[in-house]
Amino acid sequence: MSGIHIHPHDILDEGPEQIVKRIGVLRDVRHIFTAANMMFERNPYPAGILPHNPKRTFVQSTGTFHLAVDTASVYPDLYQKVDETIRMGADPLRDILERTRGTEYEIVPWLNVLNGYFTGAKLRNNRVIDFRGNEVDHWLCPNGEDVLPMWSRLLAEVHREYGCRTFMIDRIRFPDWAGKRTNPGGLFSCFCERCRKGMEAHGLDPRRMIAVMENVADLLANKQFSQAQSVITESLLFRSWIRFRQNSVTAFVGGLIAETKKYADVSFWLDLWPPSYAWLLGQDYTELTKHCGVLKHFPYHKLGGGADVQGLIEYFAADAAEREEAFGAFMRLFRFDYELSYREFQQKGYPIRFIGEENGKVRALSAPGTQIYSGVQMWNLPAQELAEAIIAAKASDADDVIYYCYGWAEEELFATAANIM
Ligand SMILES: [Zn+2]
Repeated sequence: MSGIHIHPHDILDEGPEQIVKRIGVLRDVRHIFTAANMMFERNPYPAGILPHNPKRTFVQSTGTFHLAVDTASVYPDLYQKVDETIRMGADPLRDILERTRGTEYEIVPWLNVLNGYFTGAKLRNNRVIDFRGNEVDHWLCPNGEDVLPMWSRLLAEVHREYGCRTFMIDRIRFPDWAGKRTNPGGLFSCFCERCRKGMEAHGLDPRRMIAVMENVADLLANKQFSQAQSVITESLLFRSWIRFRQNSVTAFVGGLIAETKKYADVSFWLDLWPPSYAWLLGQDYTELTKHCGVLKHFPYHKLGGGADVQGLIEYFAADAAEREEAFGAFMRLFRFDYELSYREFQQKGYPIRFIGEENGKVRALSAPGTQIYSGVQMWNLPAQELAEAIIAAKASDADDVIYYCYGWAEEELFATAANIM
């Protein structure tokens, strides 16, 4: 049984009746992943319009919380800002829950855990700090003292308020290089006080680690892309640091699941990066799937697997030759063996075999019996290419697909997906 993602503005602008009707075309969809909070992102991303929204052509979301829960009273020292629409009385999650009660659909609140508009007296102690001591905008550290207790209490409160028994947790990782502006430095994080102490306990000297990262930054600034890639790939310090990051995320996710279950009888889905990238961001499929047996990832082959590849290449490279060289180093860092130039990548993305290969890696890395869902890009692509992506995902080691996403998808893509099921 498949699933689809929706956003609060879809529910508020189109109404739950219209949404259920349009999703109904996709006969095997059972899970509707309803965003409970938003990132700082243009909808749709990065350009285009919301094709069937009757009120707006696009929505710029601002990292706010979209459920009728007073986040500040649940955990006063650290909380996410509640969206203005909710303060004015809107309650999109309740609207869709009420419309689907007694139907075959399960509404699963989908939460961006470590990224959003957070505030509170203890925010400073819980933020991600990069290797140069800068705060990384809008990111919480998985090792932050208040992050786990805040989220476990908030999820228990959401369960109490709405009765939802399943949550999808997303953005359970360290920052990547994308954001409002491309920020590769965000990748070399976190060096908050708790992370530094944790590194030392792990036998890793944070000052030595920072020195290696400064070296990589110098190499990149001097356009020595291959050398920078070699340091990241071969340095034992880097390997140890990556292990520390993965342990941090695994401990956070395992702790969040265990702690929330103390308050409420709920279960979880994980939303992870495709495995070729996930390791660098702190996601260890093998360890994470010991804590949670259901996951989704998003091997969007046209979009470089969901990574902002072009943003990164163009940040460092000034001309066509440099871009090709930087792209070659990027391919080697993530062990992609495609015969692909940067120019070809810009036009077509990765080859379609990316979908099957990433799902194969997820299956190999995950605990036996893990339910694996392959995210399918359902916007900004021709119908024929959507069809190819669904067929590739269904033929892969994944159990089924999850469409991303309802509000961004052109009308004809619903019919295309329906015809393949
Ligand atoms: Zn930290």
